[in-house]
Amino acid sequence: MDKILPAYNDPLFSILIIVVLVLIVATFSYVMENYKEKRKDKSLKNFLGKISKEPNDFDIKKIPFETTLVHPLSLLADTFTSQGDYQKSISVYLYLIENIRSFGQKEYLLENLGKTYLKAGFLKRSEFIFLEILHKHARNTEALYHLEIVYELLNEYESASETLKPLQILGDPCLALKRHLQLSKLLKNHQIDTIKKAETIQALLETPNHSYRRVMQELFKLNPSLAWQSIDTKQIGSILDILWFLPTSNLNFDIISSNEILRSIYMAKGFLQHKEETPQSGIFAIDTIVSAQKCGYTEVDLIFSYGCRRCKQHFPISFIRCPQCYAIDSITIKEKLAKKRSKTGYSLL
Ligand SMILES: [Zn+2]
Repeated sequence: MDKILPAYNDPLFSILIIVVLVLIVATFSYVMENYKEKRKDKSLKNFLGKISKEPNDFDIKKIPFETTLVHPLSLLADTFTSQGDYQKSISVYLYLIENIRSFGQKEYLLENLGKTYLKAGFLKRSEFIFLEILHKHARNTEALYHLEIVYELLNEYESASETLKPLQILGDPCLALKRHLQLSKLLKNHQIDTIKKAETIQALLETPNHSYRRVMQELFKLNPSLAWQSIDTKQIGSILDILWFLPTSNLNFDIISSNEILRSIYMAKGFLQHKEETPQSGIFAIDTIVSAQKCGYTEVDLIFSYGCRRCKQHFPISFIRCPQCYAIDSITIKEKLAKKRSKTGYSLL
């Protein structure tokens, strides 16, 4: 051995061998990493290629690409999205993404494309885009939050829960989101009977970070008598519309009569007779109707609208996740006096 490699016993020779080995490993890793990156790029390109071949009357590809166009075109795409013209918005995003090479420069465009697919209801495409972003940038919280929403809409609660782990590592404890998923998962579980479901949901009221409105809404659907036992009079404002539209068969007059606020609500609704004492609910619209009834005017009703605390948008119907910004537990209920139109008995449940 000494004759083949004269410096075999030389410590410098050993160091040289180690350096050579490190270089070989480093080169191999670099080549493999490049190969993986190219495969990911190819998969994204294939996906985008397929989508861009779909028939579309808005042919943006006729415009020759220039980097100065990126900002104005991304603003144009945002405008299309806000106007609900998702097809045009998607065309613009695809055009920009296909023409920009650097991931860093097109990451926000991919995010917007994923969000637009989500809004347009293309959940699988949205999932693909968010997963592509996370392959390259695992700490992208926007992509993680939106991927969780996509899985939730796909009823894939296990996958949705998995997105919470990286979010927790990144500093968001996701406590409300965890409760929200726990409840959604329970409600979709057909192995559990209604009685057990209602009991489990009622137990959620004892836990922190639950949505009182959502829990009570589900409880009124599954077991009204359990719901009435769980009424928290301090939080009636957050379920006023649910109580207002409850069918008479689901009312518990023993509990209603024992509480001034509830008495007042159902007196305003016309389900309780006026007596000498006029109950006060502390809710302006309800107390106004009760006073009007006392004066003989019974043609007043309530109408409800719903706002989102986060994006400040207003909607005519109730929601669990804001239709605009997808926030949970962000709903605010606004009640307004209106002239009674006809006898309606529809329920929100
Ligand atoms: Zn919102």
